[in-house]
Amino acid sequence: MSDQAPADAVTMDKLVALCKRRGFVFPASEIYGGIGSTYDYGHYGVLLKQNVRDAWWQSMLRERDDIVALDSAIIQNPKVWEASGHLAGFTDPMVDCRTCKLRFRADHIDQCACGRKPSKTAGEGPDCDLTEARDFNLMFETTMGAVKEDGATVYLRPETAQGIFVNFKNVLQFARKRPPFGIAQTGKSFRNEITPGNFIFRTREFEQMEMEFFVPPAEADEWFEHWCTTRTDWYLKLGIRPSHLRLRVHEASELSHYSSATSDIEYLFPIGWSELEGIANRGDFDLSAHAEASGERLEWHDPQRDERYVPHVIEPAAGADRAMLAFLADAYDEEEVEGEIRTVLRLHPRLAPVKVAVLPLMRKDGQPERAREVFEDLRQRVNAEYDEGGSIGKRYRRQDEIGTPFAVTIDHQTMEDGTVTLRERDSLAQDRIAADQLADEIDSRLRREWHSPKLDAATG
Ligand code: ATP
Repeated sequence: MSDQAPADAVTMDKLVALCKRRGFVFPASEIYGGIGSTYDYGHYGVLLKQNVRDAWWQSMLRERDDIVALDSAIIQNPKVWEASGHLAGFTDPMVDCRTCKLRFRADHIDQCACGRKPSKTAGEGPDCDLTEARDFNLMFETTMGAVKEDGATVYLRPETAQGIFVNFKNVLQFARKRPPFGIAQTGKSFRNEITPGNFIFRTREFEQMEMEFFVPPAEADEWFEHWCTTRTDWYLKLGIRPSHLRLRVHEASELSHYSSATSDIEYLFPIGWSELEGIANRGDFDLSAHAEASGERLEWHDPQRDERYVPHVIEPAAGADRAMLAFLADAYDEEEVEGEIRTVLRLHPRLAPVKVAVLPLMRKDGQPERAREVFEDLRQRVNAEYDEGGSIGKRYRRQDEIGTPFAVTIDHQTMEDGTVTLRERDSLAQDRIAADQLADEIDSRLRREWHSPKLDAATG
């Protein structure tokens, strides 16, 4: 990992345009003019995010035996947020501009454009008149109960983590685990961000992938290091270029009052180095706070060993949408092929929404029927797509832009000798393969080690 990164074709505008054009992500409520920084996911966006989430679950559950899963409610008893400190302290400092009436996050003001003169940052324009910063709570409130006036104020969760802490006892009782062990969950979180933006990087509704790892207090430092390395490796194994990933250790002044250590995994987004995932040593803060507020004992107790303690918690907290944006940005590439610019998403094959496209060269001579048979066979094994519309060049371009690693073409030769063409997205190499060996061939290619060809281009 390094501070120096090679030049890249990707920009945020290009990503937004590709996501819209190819059905990954659309602005929400678009026909009504949208609703600030909220997005809907189209077919390929759903598949891509699902693959990101599945890869996360695989690394947490299938590849380990010390973590269990949870899916807690979005709306919890408000006492949860009182005890966790969110009601009092989940705030960002906000300033208003009395002139343009816009609001800005005070600690991000150097990244915010002035409402009247976007070439200047907020506060720098000739008419800017900023208020003092004041705390703004980021939790969304709503009312639970049939009659609004009589209902109770409740909150949409701003993180999934608290649902884990309040279930600590339930999980211990059935899971037959002892510290060190973890509880993982993915799901939507909501934050009334003052300045959302940069596409799906910062939205008000987003999906988190969080795991709370409960450890004996004496082992906390060691496990913190373990999770920093393990989580960094997860991104690298899924193809993120090392030149675009780094681990940033928080300064003492940045740490939350309960955290003795925090590091951010940062990605070099088109907007610059920014947090992708936070890893924090939260000590015993959360379990102790909920124990005190609820009156429940939230601790580890082993009567045989006469052992009793409140476990410390190491938390890797990632965002599914932000991770997806990083994978998209890292994958986006443009290259000149036969005098034309080819746009291609060089996604790790594991993440690619579609693994293989089946394309009859012509819509005649039995080719579509033969292609359908090949497709029906392949779709039993992997996510496949059949496409017979438009020129073959256009169909290849479409698959390149959604990141499909393989395309199979059925042509006149197929009808004669039963072979098909297998085209690779990255190298553009084309091989003739017997149709009955195709599924095994694709299976084995999908399992091969993969690294980004952008890496080779950069090194040279
Ligand atoms: P930031 O400093 O960017 O506001 P944070 O430190 O508040 O983030 P955490 O509370 O640690 O974020 O949340 C864990 C992860 O959840 C983040 O690393 C990010 O991937 C994701 N995340 C947090 N806020 C948002 C958001 N508004 N939109 C999209 N993803 C988010």
